[in-house]
Amino acid sequence: MEVTVGVPPPEAYLDHAASTPARPEVVEAMLPWLAGQWGNPTGAHARGRAARRAVDEAREPVAELLGCSGGEVVFTSGGTEADDLAVNGVLDAVGGMAMCSAIEHHAVLDPVVHRGGMTVPVDRRGVVDCEALAAMLDAAAAAAASGDGPEVTLVSVMVANNEVGTIEPVAHIADVVARHAPSAVMHTDAVQAAAWVDVAAMAAGVPLVSLSGHKIGGPKGIGALAVRPGVALAPRLRGGGQERGRRSGTHNVAGIVGLGVAARLVLEHRAGLAASVGAMRDRLEAALVGIDGVSVTVAPDGTAPPERLPTICHVCVSGVDSEALLFLLDDAGVAASAASSCASGATESSHVLAAMGVSGADARGSLRLSLGWTTDDTAIDRVIEVMPAAVARLRLFDVSSSERS
Ligand code: PLP
Repeated sequence: MEVTVGVPPPEAYLDHAASTPARPEVVEAMLPWLAGQWGNPTGAHARGRAARRAVDEAREPVAELLGCSGGEVVFTSGGTEADDLAVNGVLDAVGGMAMCSAIEHHAVLDPVVHRGGMTVPVDRRGVVDCEALAAMLDAAAAAAASGDGPEVTLVSVMVANNEVGTIEPVAHIADVVARHAPSAVMHTDAVQAAAWVDVAAMAAGVPLVSLSGHKIGGPKGIGALAVRPGVALAPRLRGGGQERGRRSGTHNVAGIVGLGVAARLVLEHRAGLAASVGAMRDRLEAALVGIDGVSVTVAPDGTAPPERLPTICHVCVSGVDSEALLFLLDDAGVAASAASSCASGATESSHVLAAMGVSGADARGSLRLSLGWTTDDTAIDRVIEVMPAAVARLRLFDVSSSERS
């Protein structure tokens, strides 16, 4: 079909990995805490006690989702702060050096690199190279023993990647870390995974786990870090001593209540929703690879994809520029994304695709369509309808594709 310009079409929102709508139950539960219930949870009066109770009640579903106890949940302002607290909190407490996978979200990658840490390679499908990790840990241990380098004190590998959806073998990685760097603490960023896979089971032995509200049907600006007993963690925010001194600052009561409701809804609906969303993603993907020059990024040359989130359809479209494709899709009512968006709204080249060894030409036409709890067949049909025309139109003007062929 023609890609129309200027007429606002119905929205097909396929950018749930960037932010998914808050569930109505979440919004409803938050409202009293935004209006009539303004008490500070530290207050020694009825309003304060009510707020305190609401915060403590919200800990339970969050803890169940992350596989820890309520007392081990530290509420933060989001996934970024949870990741920052994990990396910098451990390094500030015990010193040493951090390692993380080369495809971590910037919220982990940047603090690790900033503190002089190292990145662990992944394979072409985005799976962490466990042999390389073991060798890097052994080399660092040998250097530390001879006084030539810092000890590795933190290893961070995400449960699932936010761009391509690859699920990492977190339990196996934790085992490698335990064998090759027994005193290192492991952290996992479960921000993208928590709504879709059983993080409590997958990260059962991992002492630090990050969560974000707006990726699981909760509000923005709230998140959590699970901190198991025995982890030495220095606070990043000092002050009133909230969260048992791990994170000072007056609690975001409405956000915490919303996060608790969102976590409970995930626990109730996750399995069924993952199956139905996965089926829609597979249908979308099958249609897209039917377009000439479109390939599934994590399944190079038609190989089987790795274990991955049911929500993410990441493809490379040859002969198009993804920013131009996003523009045409947006115009046709399809909200999608390319690499990670930076704060300015521009797309920057993807360190994830580079680490996977995706060629610059393929990465140039990369497209992420991410599904979520509101996605329906109409949205999928819309993408399937508009993509061929959008791709064909861009290829007409693409100099580099005609040069290649
Ligand atoms: N970690 C991952 C894997 C993410 O995808 C994101 C956000 O996209 C974050 C961390 C940051 O979370 P927040 O937006 O809550 O700060």
